[in-house]
Amino acid sequence: MPTYTPPLRDMQFVMHELFDVTSELRRLPHHAEFDADTLNAILEEGGKFCAQVVAPLNLPGDVEGCTLDRTTHEVTTPKGFKEAYAQFVEGGWPALSSDPAYGGQGLPHVVNQSIYEMLNSANQAWAMYPGLAHGAYEALHAHGSEEEKALYLPKLVSGHWLGTMCLTEPHCGTDLGLLRSKAVPQADGSYRIDGQKIFISGGENDLAENIVHLVLARLPDAPAGSKGISLFIVPKYVPNADGSLGARNGIYCSRLEDKMGISASATCQMELEGALGWLVGEPNKGLAAMFVMMNAARIGVGMQGLGLTEVAYQNAAVYAKERLQMRALSGAKAQDKPADPIIVHPDVRKMLLTARAYAEGGRALVMFTTLQLDLALGTDDDDERRECEDTIALLTPIVKAFLTDNAWIATTHCQQVFGGHGYIRNAGMEQFVRDARIAMIYEGTNTVQSLDLLGRKVLGDNGAKLKKFGKRIEAFIEENGTDEAMQEFVNPLADLGDKVMKLTAEIGMKAFRNADEVGAAAVDYLRVCGHLMFAYFFACMAKIALEKKDSGDPFYTAKLATARFYFAKLLPETASLIRTARTGLAPLVEMEEALF
Ligand SMILES: Cc1cc2nc3c(=O)[nH]c(=O)nc-3n(C[C@H](O)[C@H](O)[C@H](O)COP(=O)(O)OP(=O)(O)OC[C@H]3O[C@@H](n4cnc5c(N)ncnc54)[C@H](O)[C@@H]3O)c2cc1C
Repeated sequence: MPTYTPPLRDMQFVMHELFDVTSELRRLPHHAEFDADTLNAILEEGGKFCAQVVAPLNLPGDVEGCTLDRTTHEVTTPKGFKEAYAQFVEGGWPALSSDPAYGGQGLPHVVNQSIYEMLNSANQAWAMYPGLAHGAYEALHAHGSEEEKALYLPKLVSGHWLGTMCLTEPHCGTDLGLLRSKAVPQADGSYRIDGQKIFISGGENDLAENIVHLVLARLPDAPAGSKGISLFIVPKYVPNADGSLGARNGIYCSRLEDKMGISASATCQMELEGALGWLVGEPNKGLAAMFVMMNAARIGVGMQGLGLTEVAYQNAAVYAKERLQMRALSGAKAQDKPADPIIVHPDVRKMLLTARAYAEGGRALVMFTTLQLDLALGTDDDDERRECEDTIALLTPIVKAFLTDNAWIATTHCQQVFGGHGYIRNAGMEQFVRDARIAMIYEGTNTVQSLDLLGRKVLGDNGAKLKKFGKRIEAFIEENGTDEAMQEFVNPLADLGDKVMKLTAEIGMKAFRNADEVGAAAVDYLRVCGHLMFAYFFACMAKIALEKKDSGDPFYTAKLATARFYFAKLLPETASLIRTARTGLAPLVEMEEALF
C-alpha cells in the first residue's frame, strides 16, 4: 500500500521564499492580517487530514468503486468516504477560501489550492467531490442573483451540499454548441428542464444531503450554437426558503460508468425529466457564466496532475532506496548487501528526478498562477488587476495541460521504478497511472487547451499577454545575467525565450494563410511554453538555493540538483518540440481521409 507525506517543506519554500506570498497578500485590504504562521499551521493540519484520513481510503476505494441502486437511483461511495467527508465538513475545510458573507473563512486561494494538492495526492477520486462543489460555489458567487446566493451559497460553503457541473451530453463534449437539453420557462419564474447529461462527476453520491447541479440547457427561442446556451441551478432536493430540504427534483442517475481510473468518483449519466431549475445570470450567456467554474476547474485539474506526480515520486523514491537488484556498472556500492539498491542505476535516477522536477516545477507554476488570482480579486488597482487577469488567462491552459501531461509521464516512470511490482495492484502505482490519465481528457482535452493557448491567448491578442510575461523573464535575466553562478540557468532560459517569440511569429504568419496551421502546431507549442515557465521558475529557485546552499540545510542542495537536472535533461526536449511545431500542417494532411 502506498504512503503519503505532505511535502510541507517544499510548499513553504514556494510560498515564503520563492513568492513571498504573505507580503504580497498583506498589500490587499481583505488579507491585511494574513500571516505566515497561520498559513503554515493550516498546511500542517490539512496535511494531517490528507495523510491520515483520506490517503488510507485511496486504494480500497479504487478496488470497491461506487455502486448504483437502480430502483432508488442512489449511489453509494466506497466504505469510509462518507465519514471522511463528514470530518472534512466538521473541520471547516470546504469554507477556507470562500466569502465570509456566506460563512466562508475568506482565506486566500493559495491556501485552498495547497490543501487541494495534498487531497489529490492522498485520494484524487475523493477530492473530486468537494473540488467540484467549490467550482459551483465560484460560478454562483460570480453570476447568481442575490436570492440564489442567499439560498445556495451558505450550504455549499459549509460543505453540507455538494455541487456538479453538467455540460456533457452523448453527442456533445468539446463542442458545447451542439447541446440539446431544453429549459422551458414557467409562470413563476422557474424553468422545467429535460435532457440527458453524461459523464457527470459526483452527479449522485451519498456524501452530502443535497447536490446542486449547474446545468447547461437551451431556452425555446435560443439561437443555435454556443450563443444559445443558458445556465441553470437544478438542485437534487428543491430547497425551501429557509434552506431546509423540500421535494425530490426530477434529476436522477440512470447509470454509472465503468472506467479506467478514479473508480471511486461516481461518473454518472443523469436524466432530467421536467426538473425544476432556476436561471443563473442572463439568458443565452450560460457558457460565459460556466467559464468561471471551468477555469477554476482547469487549475483544479492541473492540481490533480501535481498531486499524483508528488505521491508517485515519494513512493518510487522510497522503493528505489530499498529494492536491491544488480550492481552499479562502476562497481558495488552497497558492499554489505547481496546487490545494490536500484537507486544507483542512472536510468532509475533519471525516472525519479523527472518526476521530482515535474512536481517541484509544477508546484511553483500553479502557486504563482493562484497568487495572481488572489491579487486580481483583492487589488484596488485596475492596472494591477488587468495585469494579473492576463497572466491567469495565459497560464491556465498551461497549468491544466502541461501539469497533467507531465503527471502521466511521471506516474508511468514511477511505476517503472517498481518493475513488475509496479504492475501489481497492491503497490498502488498502477492506480496512480490510471487515475492520472483522465486529467488529460476532461475539463477540455489537452489538445483543446493548446488551441486555447495558441489560438486565443497568444495569437488572439498578437502575443501581448505572452510578451508581458516575457518582460518578467527578461527582467530576471537582466538582473542575473552577469552572475557567473547563474549562467547555467540564465543562458538557456534567455535562449528559449527568444525561440518562443520567433516560433510564435512564424506560426502566426502561417496561420494567416491557413488557420489549420494553429491546430498542427498547438500541442507542441503548449509544451514548449510549459518548459519556458518551468525554466523561469527553476532559475528563480536555483538562485535562492545558490544563495542558501552553505546554510547546511540539505533542502537547498537538493533543490539545486533538481534544477540542474531539469536544465540538463528535461528542458532540451524543447529543441525537438520546436522542430516538430515548425514542420507545420503539410505532413498531417498529405494522406487522404479515405486512406486512414
Ligand atoms: C471520468 C470523466 C469525468 C467527467 N466529468 C465531467 C463532469 O463532471 N461534467 C461534464 O460536463 N463533463 C464531464 N466529463 C466529460 C469530459 O469533459 C469530456 O469527455 C471531454 O470534454 C471530451 O469530450 P468528448 O468525450 O465528447 O470528446 P470529443 O469532444 O468527441 O473529442 C474527441 C477527440 O477529438 C478531439 N477534438 C475535438 N475537437 C477538436 C478540435 N477542434 N481540434 C482538435 N481536436 C479536437 C478531442 O481533443 C478528443 O481527442 C467527464 C469525462 C470523464 C471520462
